[in-house]
Amino acid sequence: MLFTHATVLTMNSTREIVEDGAIRVSDDRIDAIGKTSDLVTAHPDDDVIDLSGHIVMPGLIDTHVHTAQCMLRGISECGAVGEFSNWLFGRIFPLQGSYTEEDALASASLCILEMLKSGTTGFVECLLAERYGVDQIAQLCIDSGIRAALGKVVMDVSPATRDELGWHPGMWQTRESSIEGTVAAHETWDGAGDGRLQIWFGCRSAEPANDPSLFREVSDLAREREMGLTIHLAELPHDNDYAREHGYRSHVEFAAGHGLLGERTVLAHCTIADELDIEILAETGTSVSHNAGNNAAAAWGPARITDMLDAGVNVSIGCDGAPTNANMDLLRDLRIACHTARQRAGDRAALTSEMALEMATLNGARALRTHSYAGSLEAGKKADFITINTDAPHLQPVWNPAATAVFAAQGGDVDTVVIDGRVIMRAREVLTMDEEAILANVRGRFRGVAERAGVDGLASAWPTA
Ligand SMILES: [Zn+2]
Repeated sequence: MLFTHATVLTMNSTREIVEDGAIRVSDDRIDAIGKTSDLVTAHPDDDVIDLSGHIVMPGLIDTHVHTAQCMLRGISECGAVGEFSNWLFGRIFPLQGSYTEEDALASASLCILEMLKSGTTGFVECLLAERYGVDQIAQLCIDSGIRAALGKVVMDVSPATRDELGWHPGMWQTRESSIEGTVAAHETWDGAGDGRLQIWFGCRSAEPANDPSLFREVSDLAREREMGLTIHLAELPHDNDYAREHGYRSHVEFAAGHGLLGERTVLAHCTIADELDIEILAETGTSVSHNAGNNAAAAWGPARITDMLDAGVNVSIGCDGAPTNANMDLLRDLRIACHTARQRAGDRAALTSEMALEMATLNGARALRTHSYAGSLEAGKKADFITINTDAPHLQPVWNPAATAVFAAQGGDVDTVVIDGRVIMRAREVLTMDEEAILANVRGRFRGVAERAGVDGLASAWPTA
């Protein structure tokens, strides 16, 4: 199959851009990339998809996703949410803790559909709870065609702490069962879907609720089993207070002391990481997921992203949860990342379009541990790419395709998505999912979840007739 007449951002080692370029795909791999005229002449009998006017780039990778939260889209904007703990224990946990498996499947389907439609070809789920039905979510990922690392929840919160915090029982399980369930899911699902699916540890945060010995046990297990691990870390100032209570200077040093850092680990947020923390993150090869849109909406940070990149930390991008960020459009979050990094630095060159695209592709692939075969468009690598149709007023003219992608385009401009050599979306129609049914299902369910959870006030502050 030949994809022709596109502007190809290869993201290869020289970051070569091919004008009037073509990509030849054979099975799941890229067979060749070059000028359209050369590839058409060399392969006259191939089927052709004409991409005139499209920018082609590697598929985007979202390294911090809560699939269960898409059904809660925008609810942080429904009235005052108060402190983080009120938001979490008073609103989010009661809702998610009241999910049936059908609700969780509806939300995850919506999330994956939205990601595919906005150009995300791989993602890290950070907290997949057992009540959501691990098997059905794994199967959903495989059927949709996306790449995924599912971080299955592990936790150690005593019943007394749970009750004291008002932690919803639907979001709780014992340490033993949470670890056993994760190991079992790893044995069943890791490598499924031709290697598109991975099972990771999704640690609940290092906070007073969790017994710290959990982290050593889980990091040892991750090492033994060569599993990935993801955790929210160094998110808010109280995280450093917690670390100090345990004899560490910072939350990052706490994580290092409990074996949580390393090349298999993706840390979400790191909004309060300082210079010494950044050195540790770089030395240990730990990946950081920068959650620009969510952090800005929640008034967290700003994270020292450009300092991290300068120090050699592998920084990728994650949309985080839809309650606050309201959106899984990674192109939009790339733009917010550039805006906020520049404002913080007082320097408009602080984070360029090119750097942002590297974060969402090459760095994302390293975080997802797919970098040996994905993240750039090169002969021999997997055919994971997306196209942006620039035939639109807000996308013309194209001076610099990287800037068009990051600063002008939005998820709705993504036209075609190819993963593992398979066309997953063409002309904005996702071929692997039933969009109409997914939207109808969510519309029919979301209010029922709030009723069951007993959470009210989830509406506009304005009178509604
Ligand atoms: Zn998160």
